[in-house]
Amino acid sequence: MSKQITVGLAGNPNAGKTTVFNALTGARQHVGNYPGVTVEQKEGFCEHRDYEIRIVDLPGTYSLTAYSMEELIARDFVVEEKPDVIVDVVDAANLERNLYLTTQFIELDQPTVVALNMIDVAEHTGKKINHERLSALFGIPMVPMAASKRRGMEALLDTIVKVAETGEAPQVHPRFGTELEEHIGEMEMLVAERGLLTHLPARWIAIKLLENDSQVRELVEESSPDAVGILAATDAARAHLARVIGDDAEVAVADHRYGFASGAVRQALHYDQVERMDWSDAVDRILVNRVLGLPIFVLMMWAMFEMVFRFGNAPMAGIESAFEALGNAVAALVPDGELESLVVDGIISGVGGVLIFVPNIVLLFVGISLLEDSGYMARAAFVVDRIMHHVGLHGKSFIPMLIGFGCTVPAVMATRTLDTRRDRIVTILIVPLMSCGARLPVYILLAGAFFPAAIAGKVIFSIYALGVLMAMAMALLFRSTVLTGETTPFVMELPPYRMPTLSGVAIHVWERAWQYVKKAGTVILAFAIVMWFLMSYPKPPAAVVEGLPDTQAAHYSLEYSAAGRLGRALEPALKPLGFNWQIGTALIAGFGAKEVVVSTLGTAYSLGETGEKTSDLRTALQNDPSLSPLVAYTFMVFVLLYLPCLATTVIIWRETGSWKWPLFAVGYTTVLAYVVSLIVYQGGMFLGYG
Ligand code: GDP
Ligand code: MG
Repeated sequence: MSKQITVGLAGNPNAGKTTVFNALTGARQHVGNYPGVTVEQKEGFCEHRDYEIRIVDLPGTYSLTAYSMEELIARDFVVEEKPDVIVDVVDAANLERNLYLTTQFIELDQPTVVALNMIDVAEHTGKKINHERLSALFGIPMVPMAASKRRGMEALLDTIVKVAETGEAPQVHPRFGTELEEHIGEMEMLVAERGLLTHLPARWIAIKLLENDSQVRELVEESSPDAVGILAATDAARAHLARVIGDDAEVAVADHRYGFASGAVRQALHYDQVERMDWSDAVDRILVNRVLGLPIFVLMMWAMFEMVFRFGNAPMAGIESAFEALGNAVAALVPDGELESLVVDGIISGVGGVLIFVPNIVLLFVGISLLEDSGYMARAAFVVDRIMHHVGLHGKSFIPMLIGFGCTVPAVMATRTLDTRRDRIVTILIVPLMSCGARLPVYILLAGAFFPAAIAGKVIFSIYALGVLMAMAMALLFRSTVLTGETTPFVMELPPYRMPTLSGVAIHVWERAWQYVKKAGTVILAFAIVMWFLMSYPKPPAAVVEGLPDTQAAHYSLEYSAAGRLGRALEPALKPLGFNWQIGTALIAGFGAKEVVVSTLGTAYSLGETGEKTSDLRTALQNDPSLSPLVAYTFMVFVLLYLPCLATTVIIWRETGSWKWPLFAVGYTTVLAYVVSLIVYQGGMFLGYG
């Protein structure tokens, strides 16, 4: 009998810890005090297989915060002494409340076993617990038992030994919603970078700091001289969260833990009798319903996009005419010539072409924020999980995909909440197919120019839908070829419903919209200037253009320029898709950022014009005989699918830690874009839509 296993016995008060302890150890126990405090520490021994098992009875707690002596003792023991196995005694008759503590044990990443005690009481009251399901959802073994009747003791010991031998840590990490996760990820990175308290999971420290845990704060402070930076970052993150959620971060964290526990219970617990329901259960009955859930979800999404286009048009037209007026005013002020062309054709029409979409972007973010803040998004993730599973995706992949409608960069970062690397990479690869906000301007421009107002919204919705469909198809393809394997189980999270606050939504929207505007003022401005130069130089020899009428001369100059030549060089490849060289040029520029597609077209068409500069880009496109509704639609399809932008490519590299995946993403999306566009265009021609 040489091998020893240390077990920390934890659980809520009255869950039956002492009973389990006595049943396991019998007379072999002694009582002392925890070092430094007068709280009783009971320790006992038992033998099983070839092991001597040392069992420490920890104080009963509901949580693992730093609020009480009991909680601190239990936590310190787990964290500092690192028992081989934590046995969390759970009262099966009060599952939800007890599992709240369990969610905190799995955050600690240490080998854990749940003793589902009082199973006799649960059965007596008509509850049937699917403990295998529950165990899969939490990613740790669970043993049903009744300690007072000595039922399940042998199985518990077997499981303890098995877990001690494999040392297997929990497989699941409850997530805390996009808002919190963003900050957790950030803090986690800071903690990991500085190598603080490496005996603890960085994610756990990050969560505790955000919860304002006094003890962890002190630990961090003592551990390193440059901890000040982390604590400052913590305070900033907490202040930000308080403004966005309208509640303290610790409350939000607790909400999500309850959401996790209560969702898991909903999935694994069945009653013989009719359940008691409160109103939020009743609402869930409908929203998460097997039959109704999906149609409701589609309806919600459709309503959101309707809102974006309905209410976005008027302010958009306003901004559009403001920029036109600005262009005219500047044109009148600045003497005719190259400088005027750079400012008016390059900068104002390039940046303006992007800024006019701010109202739409704002509305989209309002919609997403409302759904997120109300608690619906978490339910939606569960609703779509069934479909996601069919294509080998995880329900959690839904959140990054949804964020992808805003911007792909944060969406790729949001995949951190997926548990396995395989699930993560599949999600990262398909997220660029979700149509981001930057692509919206291209659709609005083209749909508005080539389709009647009544169907423009539906045309755009079809592009979004195509993106989702392609994402599913690609996921299925990747899961059956390069990234095969099981998907991890999914816990439906049911955070309490709450009324979104005006300030919360406003801050969300402001931050995201501001990012967009900032991009217009920096990256897009730079690209607009570069593209103007590429489109203006080199100039054709004066002798060649001299005799030509103005319009022809302008077109000739543009074709003669560097960008024109590049576009021309691509023409043979783009011809089967119906694209002219202006489109080719815009597509090349679009790798920088998708918004630039519009600004480049704007510059290309406004440089190609002569005389009056009044007509807008939309009219210019309508007047181009080489374009048609079919070409416009194919163009939208291509913009949807091709190349993640530069920023996305970089973030994929950072998040996957290899160049393989960003290169793969760039390659496969381009091939996909080409093939699908070819089918759309040639199919359309065949059907007579040319
Ligand atoms: P502790 O606070 O976690 O140490 O809980 P105790 O071990 O003191 O148990 C609280 C009460 O529940 C005691 O009256 C036990 O006899 C009873 N109890 C413990 N386990 C079981 C069980 O599996 N089934 C039933 N029916 N009662 C139990
Ligand atoms: Mg006790």
